[in-house]
Amino acid sequence: MRWGSRDASHARTGSDAIGRALGRRPRAARVVALAALLFTLWPGGAPAPALAVGSAMVEEEWVGDRDGEPSDEDLIATAAGPAAAEGPAPAATPGSELGAVPDASEAVAPAPDLDAAEPIEMLERTVAPGTRARLQLRTSESFSGTMVVTPVFVVHGSRKGPRVCVIGGIHGDEVNGVEVVRRMLKLLDPVSMRGTIVGVPIANLTAFRRGSRYLPDRRDLNRYFPGRPTGSSASRIAHGLFTNVVRGCEAVIDIHTGSFHRSNLPQLRSNLADPGTVVLSIAFGARTVVNNAGRLGTLRRAATDAGIPAITMEAGEPARFQEEDVAEGLDGLFRLFRSLGMIETGDEVPPPRPSPVMAFLKTRWVRCDQGGILVSRVKLGEPVVAGQALGTISDPLSEEEETVVSPISGTVLGMAMDQVVMPGFAAYHIGYEERPLVPNLASETAAPETMVPSDPEGLDLEERPE
Ligand SMILES: [Zn+2]
Repeated sequence: MRWGSRDASHARTGSDAIGRALGRRPRAARVVALAALLFTLWPGGAPAPALAVGSAMVEEEWVGDRDGEPSDEDLIATAAGPAAAEGPAPAATPGSELGAVPDASEAVAPAPDLDAAEPIEMLERTVAPGTRARLQLRTSESFSGTMVVTPVFVVHGSRKGPRVCVIGGIHGDEVNGVEVVRRMLKLLDPVSMRGTIVGVPIANLTAFRRGSRYLPDRRDLNRYFPGRPTGSSASRIAHGLFTNVVRGCEAVIDIHTGSFHRSNLPQLRSNLADPGTVVLSIAFGARTVVNNAGRLGTLRRAATDAGIPAITMEAGEPARFQEEDVAEGLDGLFRLFRSLGMIETGDEVPPPRPSPVMAFLKTRWVRCDQGGILVSRVKLGEPVVAGQALGTISDPLSEEEETVVSPISGTVLGMAMDQVVMPGFAAYHIGYEERPLVPNLASETAAPETMVPSDPEGLDLEERPE
């Protein structure tokens, strides 16, 4: 599956514009691609299209292990395509006397291909332009002394562009995001791509193997970013991921689900006081965006604090693969990549949403006052009005019943599945103060320091209310 080639000058302009919008740091000057020289001197004097160079020059294959899975030693990239190995020898430069080979001093040097990407260094490996690689992030040791290795996939385009990081599985039981990253990596083609996409399908492998949200010591990894090299186990894992993977990126997308038998409408969590994050959120084109700065310790907050625009996608409920939510996440990512000029429009890129992305500037959790069996009367995404019954709680022992009433008018962004609840359980997440998301919303939105938590306990800033 390939994205079509694109007009290089247009792409460069678009990429630079987004780079500026994202606050991208200037990169070092790039070297001239040797491939350009080969094709400039091709018989007939007609240079081959730039992207054809990449596809002819690079051949890659996964090295499988015994189980047929890609091994930890990842792929081999060879620069021995048909153009180099089988093509005819370059003819003399057109216009030279009698076709004689021109004197070296008279040869015209080919124009440098300023748009060609350079190799990138990451996790002690070099990844060549137009190739993909499976790298290893060694973050911690288990109690038995076994090194825990987290696979990090890099799809490095043959043309210059931004570096974007997509992470799933920070909470080990949130599997929709794992599937989104897996499918994303499968669809991307480094040869026709611009820029670099770093994918971490399962950031918290230890928790994923246990089917748990938490690390074995019950710590929540998403409370320890950016982490410390000498801190707790969670802090060390966070530090390894943040320092070696996230810091080199110009945008971060972290994918989550609701927690503890709660489900979330597909939505973004974005700090709309940050212009770069507003650009990302519009480009992703989620159905809804929730404005908050993110709790301290989350990957999103640590990234934005470090000057890297970051969004969290919420989709569905934990411990399940939900096709609709996975598709929604994948659509958003490819809209984003297209908008950043990293891929071309193709069948896999969904059209922009016909209506503007709506942002909820505030949200509020509605909690249960009584324990019992909760049965909801509303659905995710449903608009509700103040005083409307959201659900009922029946106590099978006391025969008491409570109606859970919405204190505000808004939209149901997250809710508990029907289940047994305790008093104080956060059951419905209602978004309100809805606005169309436009690029200048950042100037109208309160800075993180001045934002007032919409829950008196300040517990609603991430996907998990306590
Ligand atoms: Zn999560």
